[in-house]
Amino acid sequence: METDVILIGAGPIGLETACALKHAGVDYIHLEAGQIGQTIYDWPRHARFFSSPERVAIAGIPVQTHDQEQLIGEVYLAYLRSVVEIYDLDIHLYEPVTAIERSDTGFVVTSNKRGTARNYRSRYLVLATGDMNTPNRLGIPGEELPHVSHRFDEPHRYFRQKLLVVGGRNSALEAALRCFRAGAYVSLSYRRPYLDSSRTNSRLHLELSILTRKNYIPFYPSTVPVAVGPEHVDLGPSRYGGASKRETGLIRVDADFVLLLTGFQGQVEWLKNLGAGFHPESEIPKINEATMETSVPGLFVAGTAVSGNQQSYKVFVATAHEHGPKIVRAITGTSHAPFGTVPSRRYPFTIQDIASKDS
Ligand SMILES: Cc1cc2nc3c(=O)[nH]c(=O)nc-3n(C[C@H](O)[C@H](O)[C@H](O)COP(=O)(O)OP(=O)(O)OC[C@H]3O[C@@H](n4cnc5c(N)ncnc54)[C@H](O)[C@@H]3O)c2cc1C
Repeated sequence: METDVILIGAGPIGLETACALKHAGVDYIHLEAGQIGQTIYDWPRHARFFSSPERVAIAGIPVQTHDQEQLIGEVYLAYLRSVVEIYDLDIHLYEPVTAIERSDTGFVVTSNKRGTARNYRSRYLVLATGDMNTPNRLGIPGEELPHVSHRFDEPHRYFRQKLLVVGGRNSALEAALRCFRAGAYVSLSYRRPYLDSSRTNSRLHLELSILTRKNYIPFYPSTVPVAVGPEHVDLGPSRYGGASKRETGLIRVDADFVLLLTGFQGQVEWLKNLGAGFHPESEIPKINEATMETSVPGLFVAGTAVSGNQQSYKVFVATAHEHGPKIVRAITGTSHAPFGTVPSRRYPFTIQDIASKDS
């Protein structure tokens, strides 16, 4: 099948890009590995966003909530469904892309629809595949045991169970706090010597600081898991040091369950295989900020996929609203009317404005 643009990924920014393409009358095909908003769907639906509602609203459609507070995932997914219905977007759901190649005229994309390979050809390709595709694996013995997970599902599972949470960013702190409140016996291991307020949401940081200081949640700073057993985890010293006594030996922590919340990586391999340039010493693709085009002509990146690897750069929904319109402008050569009719819904945010810890 041939089209002008193939768009991969139907997270918030993939959807916003689809709205921009449709708004401009561009012929495109939209492929999504799972359901719309799959990244958010994969997390506990009651996890609360850190961004305020207007910052995660897309395509000029405001989010209205009963309490004007930050959204939970379930509400955001309902909102995304409404956006798809309002714009009547055509998305090939549950059709993961398995391969991308360059052709003389653009790109050939292969997908897998229920076991059957499908091929699509286009002049332009937009990757809106996010930055949470693959968990950062530690490569330690026991990591594949059934009581070890790289994703937080929901707290009930851990009631009256010993749970070791590994990590010190928002997802780890959120999991530790919610499981503690749900009656789990939570411990926390983090590779850095302290929980860094500049890297975490202020509410979570405050709560965890109190709980760890009072030892309601035993905290093992400057440690990393070195092996997981059926009922324990051995923690060794991390390269960040700072916990003098602990640096010398292993600490054995009892654990019925282990959550390794140590971050994720995007699909940088595709970009590399297609020949896109990367900034030296990082996994960040080189992108023309005005057009979102990579160094490969016709290959664009939108949303958090811009980060390449979320360890090294941070893009939020709020700072990515311009990605879709920029791509459409680059492809069509013309600017289209902004989304929506409410001036305050035109997202006058920049990365400098809001790329702060709580965005
Ligand atoms: C609990 C939680 C709270 C969060 N809070 C905030 C917040 O407050 N503010 C904020 O800005 N962000 C927040 N985030 C992060 C938010 O999820 C991302 O910022 C947002 O989803 C990025 O949108 P995106 O469209 O760029 O990528 P994603 O939402 O990650 O979408 C990428 C899509 O691409 C699809 N895809 C990947 N590979 C393929 C493939 N091979 N073939 C086809 N499709 C593919 C995926 O299935 C996915 O649907 C939060 C995330 C979680 C989990």
